[in-house]
Amino acid sequence: MTCPTRTACPYCGVGCGVLATPDGKGGATVAGDPDHPANFGRLCSKGSALGETLALDDRLLFPQIAGRRASWDEAIALTAATFREAIDAHGPDSVAFYVSGQLLTEDYYVANKLMKGFIGSGNIDTNSRLCMASAVAGHRRAFGTDTVPTCYEDLEQADLVVLTGSNLAWCHPVLYQRIAAAKAARPGMKVVTIDPRRTATSDLADLHLGVAPGSDAALFNFLLHRIQSQGAIDAAYVLAHVDGLPAAMAEARRWPVERAAEVTGLAPRDLEAFAALWIRREKGVTLWSQGLNQSSSGADKANAIINCHLATGRIGRPGMGPFSITGQPNAMGGREVGGLANMLAAHLDLENPAHRAAVQGFWGSPAMAERPGLKAVDLFEACAEGRIKALWIMSTNPAVSMPEADRVRDAIRATPFVAVSEVVRGTDTGDLADVLLPAAAWGEKTGTVTNSERRITRQRAFLPAPGEALADWDQLARVGRAMGFEGFDFASPAEVFREHAALSAMAGRMGRDFDLSGLEGISDADYDALAPVQWPVTEAGSRARFFADGKFHTETGRARMLPVAPRAPESRLSAAFPLRLNTGRVRDHWHTMTRTAKTPRLSRHIAEPFAEIHPADADAAGISPADLVHVIAPEGRVTVRALVTDRTPRGAIFVPMHWTSQWASAGRVDAAVRANVDPVSGQPELKGAAARIERADFA
Ligand code: SF4
Repeated sequence: MTCPTRTACPYCGVGCGVLATPDGKGGATVAGDPDHPANFGRLCSKGSALGETLALDDRLLFPQIAGRRASWDEAIALTAATFREAIDAHGPDSVAFYVSGQLLTEDYYVANKLMKGFIGSGNIDTNSRLCMASAVAGHRRAFGTDTVPTCYEDLEQADLVVLTGSNLAWCHPVLYQRIAAAKAARPGMKVVTIDPRRTATSDLADLHLGVAPGSDAALFNFLLHRIQSQGAIDAAYVLAHVDGLPAAMAEARRWPVERAAEVTGLAPRDLEAFAALWIRREKGVTLWSQGLNQSSSGADKANAIINCHLATGRIGRPGMGPFSITGQPNAMGGREVGGLANMLAAHLDLENPAHRAAVQGFWGSPAMAERPGLKAVDLFEACAEGRIKALWIMSTNPAVSMPEADRVRDAIRATPFVAVSEVVRGTDTGDLADVLLPAAAWGEKTGTVTNSERRITRQRAFLPAPGEALADWDQLARVGRAMGFEGFDFASPAEVFREHAALSAMAGRMGRDFDLSGLEGISDADYDALAPVQWPVTEAGSRARFFADGKFHTETGRARMLPVAPRAPESRLSAAFPLRLNTGRVRDHWHTMTRTAKTPRLSRHIAEPFAEIHPADADAAGISPADLVHVIAPEGRVTVRALVTDRTPRGAIFVPMHWTSQWASAGRVDAAVRANVDPVSGQPELKGAAARIERADFA
């Protein structure tokens, strides 16, 4: 009998451990890994269906150049030569990589090293920009580093869990199950959900706050105001460890209950009930996700939450802290290697000359990036304007998932050279490629991922890669060598990881939190056997929580509270576009469905795209349940079926983002979302477009 392979689920940031057993016919059966500390054997509907998604019928098996089959040597040579020509003619900022939180850390590491250390540009950004960039910015402003202070056990130990901007039950199901189990075992534990919609997650809540879309910062400013007025500020903690309280309070005091009620749309008694729950329960975790991050003021919202925890000293101890959950399986791994255009490897700062010099010395780089590169929205805008001459997209589908997706599709089409590394044929983005590079998929590639609580887990191969598919790190290393660079002669992902760990050890010696010195020089065998472990990993061991000692990474060593002036979503409502368009996810599909659509079981839950609309708004528009409707915004439209429900508030529409032009000829919803971004984080506001809804008349 074949022994199962221990690996990690490739979907969400919970990072569940999976036992995969090949069936000998090209597929595999999967089960939850009972020994993995993220899930202890649990899997959600998506994870448990992984074995049904391994069919090869739509796989990209060979490199293609302009639609014809090519050899790897040809494809690599053409990609390297085209990037080299663009750099020579127009400078390093004329080229760009757009990568993905689906990549493994080893892939991400090589991509960042090539772009930031050898090409010499910061132009590498990632679809994680769409997921958690605002939380990263919030962490860096408050703590001086992008350090997640909390862990999953904190959610089980808390007396109060606040879930804001997160449909955890559908988007991070196993973590939701852990909270639900803890609540069932400890009746005194309370859960508050904050979301304009009443979702499956709010069914667990003792108190659900249906805030007006985008008004979260006003709510947390009110909470900070109440924390002070009720004498709940931990003055000793603030005196010892926190700067910025007076300025933050000056703004918070502008948010008495009456004003907060007006802006959030909540009843004053609900606001007071929330404040009372929060203030009376010292052990509290405030968890947030895309609902807050995908906003033109997402970084401010993160800091409004962090302010409340810093003012009360509720951070760094069991059962308490602010906790941003990542959407993708390896958004955290990308952050470790500097996977965002404004970050450097090993959680070092791209804008810090000493950090740049240290990394350049470590890599022996000929040309380091000297400034942050283009963030996702700006990157595709640069393509549209003709400033990007060569673009490499890996493991993501921006022609569907970016805001103003039609414009992004046109921008990619207009770029003189586009390479796309993909697992499957026929994606909206892959169809625009000059060079298509077949990538190894989950189950065929090996490396590491890091989940939302900083836990590194090995992904292990249990199936051969089909055709000529190659791991992404290998593709990148081949292009690096073909461009004439030294330092890309990696023979295995273990070699990449060893270099990544050694660089992190250097960062650790520079006083950074991210430190894998305990894994420096790890042997191939130990890498292969690596058990799930939270970083940092040093001689002193691993650590579940940060900031217990009250020491932060700002210049003063103290945390920073920030004054937060709440702002409405950037797109203004009008008579022509009176509804707030909220985009999001459904329980059983993932991203643009390249994997989850392979199993009918997952499509049975929700088989087609829809627009959730309140009965009163439906009546006003003459829409009956199950009518086909157009959701129309200035930037575009999508035609879907109406789901009339009072779980969505009046004045808002919710449309899932998964369906692509492959599945829904009537449009992709992100084409209708204006590309407004947070000025601090660069994260697009995917939940705040202005739109209207009309019954579709095909007569
Ligand atoms: Fe996979 Fe997330 Fe489900 Fe766990 S909760 S099985 S990581 S999709």
